[in-house]
Amino acid sequence: MIRFDILTLFPQGIAPYFQEGIIKRAQKEGLIEIALWNLRDWAEDKHQTVDDTPFGGGGGMVLKVEPIFKAVKDLRLKKGKTKVILFSPRGKKFNQKKAAEYASWDQLILICGRYEGVDERVAKYIADESLSIGNYVLMGGDLPAMVVVETVARLKAGVVGEEQWLQGRITPEGGFREYAQYTRPEIFSSGKGRNWKVPKVLVSGDHQKIEEWKKRHGKIIEK
Ligand code: SAH
Repeated sequence: MIRFDILTLFPQGIAPYFQEGIIKRAQKEGLIEIALWNLRDWAEDKHQTVDDTPFGGGGGMVLKVEPIFKAVKDLRLKKGKTKVILFSPRGKKFNQKKAAEYASWDQLILICGRYEGVDERVAKYIADESLSIGNYVLMGGDLPAMVVVETVARLKAGVVGEEQWLQGRITPEGGFREYAQYTRPEIFSSGKGRNWKVPKVLVSGDHQKIEEWKKRHGKIIEK
């Protein structure tokens, strides 16, 4: 079981995505827990202000440290290992290996930035890690949070596959084996006499050869 607590200004933007398909079933079966939190609920004034103008100028708004500090304090599990992650395009790059690492924690608190960013004291004193999902700048940390939840959730036994299946796919270094796949029909005619065929070995029934083919046409996704 792993619990994801997502702190954002737009929980309603994220919510529908986690109410479909495998990720919905995984929550129902108690394999994972996902909680969405509106940062404004930790604002102190009646206007629920969570941002302010940056010191030194530069325009745009910056998310304040106080509401995030209070939210993380409230959301932290009393028991269990918690990792607090701040999304930032300046952070360490997310990859499959990191996802494997995260999957062993009891709770991930995911802080989604917005606007011009987040008061740097959050990165310095509150978050255990600043995380980037790639070399491009988004408008907020919401999509990154969805990316991390989905990647980590599928590594938990029972969500996509059982323990034995996972063992066959995850490398000792935390990489994930992926390979090309085909399904029926065995021959697809795209017109004008063109036939697109499935590699013979896959329909040969020879399991050893199939395994070798998968290795050859596969890739370990890690860094
Ligand atoms: N000036 C800020 C970036 C602002 S982008 C800085 O230097 O950190 C607004 C927010 O979107 C960020 O606070 C972050 O939470 C999120 N974000 C944007 N691009 C991202 C990326 N590639 N990976 C992770 N989070 C990102």
